[in-house]
Amino acid sequence: SGTLYVVATPIGNLQDITHRALDVLAAVDWVAAEDTRHTRPLLQNFAINQNLISLHEHNESERSEQLLQRLLAGENGALVSDAGTPLINDPGYVLVKRLRQAGVAVVPVPGASAVITALSAAGLPTDRFTYEGFLPAKSSKRLQQLTLLVEEPRTLVFYESPHRLLDSLADMAQVFGEARQIVVARELSKQFEQFVSGEFHEVVEYFSANRDKVRGEFVLMVQGFEQTSQSSQQSDYDPLIKTLMKQK
Ligand code: SAM
Repeated sequence: SGTLYVVATPIGNLQDITHRALDVLAAVDWVAAEDTRHTRPLLQNFAINQNLISLHEHNESERSEQLLQRLLAGENGALVSDAGTPLINDPGYVLVKRLRQAGVAVVPVPGASAVITALSAAGLPTDRFTYEGFLPAKSSKRLQQLTLLVEEPRTLVFYESPHRLLDSLADMAQVFGEARQIVVARELSKQFEQFVSGEFHEVVEYFSANRDKVRGEFVLMVQGFEQTSQSSQQSDYDPLIKTLMKQK
């Protein structure tokens, strides 16, 4: 059978497409795209004329079966989303899962993703992080979700839309505390790219005062929970550690 290539596309700056992505996109028999109206001009920009097939959250199950049959018949295909890496808060999971079950080769063609791009320049710890995608749209559900993350020690990464930015920041400040560090990355790789960082109250003040900056695409990164020296002294592990030390 053929191969499905999962191809990352730029998150803003078209120069971020890779040589390999262009080679693969030109060579395959078809390209499954989240929105063909979006992908056609992207490919045309690189002089690639392809057979585009739509694959979005409303037709993914049905489409996956059709694409599986085509791959089993020996065709090669590519999967792209509107921006960045497919499956990262974009369609593709149902398809990739189905192909893996069926033993069809799935090959990733790496490239941009907003989560990694944002972390790479934020200045928050990146040795461990947790990607949370989009928070729920409703404030009650959002607060509930955030409450589960209060003592998470890893850096937290969220995607957010401009019309929910201020509400989400306010809910986060309430749950995590005004003094926690946050970095907001806006319009990555584009003309108005910007990083705004500081304690919650500072960042909330900035965006409240600069409504013209509440525009475009955002990644929110929150410093993980730090145990104070006082609480670590009360740790349950202390007696165990002392016992282990004596045995040495
Ligand atoms: N698949 C994409 C990826 O790999 O990052 C994510 C798709 S998700 C539907 C779209 C969200 O990603 C946006 O709402 C925003 O939170 C984030 N995002 C995508 N491009 C961005 C950019 N250039 N700057 C900042 N955030 C971006």
